[in-house]
Amino acid sequence: MPQTLSDWNLKQSMKSALAVAEEGVQKGENPFGAAIVSPSGEPIAVAHNTARSTNNPSAHAEVNAIANACEKLQQRDLSGHWLAATAEPCPMCLSAAALAGIRHIAFGANQVVVKEAGYGGLGITGRELAKLFACEIDLRGSVLGNECIALLLRNRKRGRA
Ligand SMILES: [Zn+2]
Repeated sequence: MPQTLSDWNLKQSMKSALAVAEEGVQKGENPFGAAIVSPSGEPIAVAHNTARSTNNPSAHAEVNAIANACEKLQQRDLSGHWLAATAEPCPMCLSAAALAGIRHIAFGANQVVVKEAGYGGLGITGRELAKLFACEIDLRGSVLGNECIALLLRNRKRGRA
């Protein structure tokens, strides 16, 4: 599988995802951020989770970033693009990325940490789900892992659901 992005590009993308996640936290959103990067490493879109402000349980950072990128590029296919997410994508986000043609995904914190921070999952990790797909997904964890883990543990889920 082609590895089109350098480690430097990936780290820059994750820094963008972390920065937008912090913006979201300041607005009272859940601590998740995501970035879409072009095959050549150009930043296309970033987004944080907006599930709280929009009362939309599907408004995860990854889904928002994919939508932003598609709107910006005026296309619904992101083949060759990368998704960088501060946390291991949930089944919905992994599926959305795959449907958009994304085959390369980098994330920071894994689902164990997500759960530890109080954000529920559906009992299957992105890695496990990806194995069930007909397409091959290149999932790369622990990109700026410490920073992404710290973001989650600093912003554990509060009482309000
Ligand atoms: Zn998700």
